[in-house]
Amino acid sequence: MPDPLLTYIAFGGNLGDVQANFISARTAIAELEHTSLIASSYIYCTPPLGPAGQADYLNAVIAIESRLSALKLLDALQHIEQQHQRMRAEHWGPRTLDLDIIAIGNQIIGKQSIATDRLNIPHIEMHKRQFVLRPLCDIAPNWQHPRLLKSASQMLQTLLQHGETALPKGTAW
Ligand code: AMP
Repeated sequence: MPDPLLTYIAFGGNLGDVQANFISARTAIAELEHTSLIASSYIYCTPPLGPAGQADYLNAVIAIESRLSALKLLDALQHIEQQHQRMRAEHWGPRTLDLDIIAIGNQIIGKQSIATDRLNIPHIEMHKRQFVLRPLCDIAPNWQHPRLLKSASQMLQTLLQHGETALPKGTAW
């Protein structure tokens, strides 16, 4: 068995009872084999990227320790997403719950320039997204991006210095 690796998972959603989905997905992740929950960020309400007219998103990040391989963990997260999407497909349509692996220890997996691989670690867009960096800073401000060699709090500061509005305070869950 490999040593457990500290892993960060981003949660997002904007349809249905998103907080209830976050709570049940977090429970499902904590129950995965060889995996334990270490910490949860606050939940942030964030403006949607992309087409206007969508509801605001909720976003959060959790830390786990897991001995699962990166691809096994991705399989497990996609299974949990599908379980929640089935629930919501009847009521609210798709994409109530997105789960992305932000980082696994200091591993670098996949091409970092283009999102064509099944898995890119660290997540290819994470350093550009306040809705990832803000919650990550709640639980791991000193985590260092293994390729950019910047901490989570430095990357968040860069976004704010470039004029992004800081997200309002988050809520516990
Ligand atoms: P989306 O649901 O739009 O976030 O995209 C999911 C797709 O991104 C899946 O098909 C994954 O294979 C791929 N992917 C690449 N890197 C990651 C990552 N770090 N976490 C989750 N999915 C990833």
